[in-house]
Amino acid sequence: MKPFAYQRADSIDDAISAIANHPGTAYLAGGTNLVDLMKLGVSRPRALVDISHLPLDHLTHRDGHTVIGALATNATVAADPVIRTDFPVLSESILAGASGQLRNSASTAGNLLQKTRCTYFQDVSKPCNKRAPGSGCPARTGAHRDLGILGVSTSCIATQPSDMAVALSVLDATVSLRSAAGERTVKLQDFYVAPGTTPHRETVLEHGELLTQVAFPALPAGATSRYRKVRDRWSYAFAVISVAAVVVLDAHGRIEQVRIAWGGVAPRPWRAYLAEAELRGRRPSPELFERTLRAELRHATPLPQNEFKVDLVKDVTTALLTDLAHPAEDRKVTR
Ligand code: SF4
Repeated sequence: MKPFAYQRADSIDDAISAIANHPGTAYLAGGTNLVDLMKLGVSRPRALVDISHLPLDHLTHRDGHTVIGALATNATVAADPVIRTDFPVLSESILAGASGQLRNSASTAGNLLQKTRCTYFQDVSKPCNKRAPGSGCPARTGAHRDLGILGVSTSCIATQPSDMAVALSVLDATVSLRSAAGERTVKLQDFYVAPGTTPHRETVLEHGELLTQVAFPALPAGATSRYRKVRDRWSYAFAVISVAAVVVLDAHGRIEQVRIAWGGVAPRPWRAYLAEAELRGRRPSPELFERTLRAELRHATPLPQNEFKVDLVKDVTTALLTDLAHPAEDRKVTR
């Protein structure tokens, strides 16, 4: 590992100024992804600013909004009684990611900012446009079974690996970003940027800006929400594909509101907005779901090894929506 300087920040403002004025520096919180990347030589910061003791570990439910501090651990969020009861999609997504030990250390912001697990990105002996801009993308002709089929570019087909981000996407979450100039709020859906020709730029976060918290509104009365993940190893693995969904039915059993997001298929949580618009006001059925999702996926650009994801994400989403639209007696329903 390359030597680096270490500094512990005493306040949020100190942390921001320590990073903003110094290129090649990075924030350190749980370190569960960053330290691995440093060991691999993928990330080579000159200095780390430790923010793990800053007062950003809050988790509140007030005035119809949930607010999660950037440093609230994944374990804390997943175990929160209101999250478990009212937003099962979020607790399920967190529990489907990583191991218990990692969830005890990993922070909310770190989860959202974790890097792709594309094997070429993690291997500094290989070219990779995301790690070394302009060097090429060997995944297109090499191993791409786990990579993206939607919203990718010829420069990069990597996926964003956060399960939590997929769930937060259907909760219509926003993130707060603080810099020396002040604070701004960005929809999570707009936080991640398309790879285009600059896949090394993954979010709208500027150097020195600190993600301070995530917020989302309460779900409508009667909403059901779930997260379903397909992975190669049940105990601990990144998503081959995953689905987060929220469904609200009206008094006549028609779909009043539906939100669908996919993980493991795109460089950001993929909100299936076309399908959502098509499904609103319709009577739910597996045939309707399948037909609508097929239309959403017609813009997919799979490669030979990940072509299977098109049918897989369609079928898993159809099954999940069918379950949510015909809830069993014991399914959790939000207040
Ligand atoms: Fe690098 Fe992206 Fe290509 Fe993977 S898919 S090798 S991360 S450019």
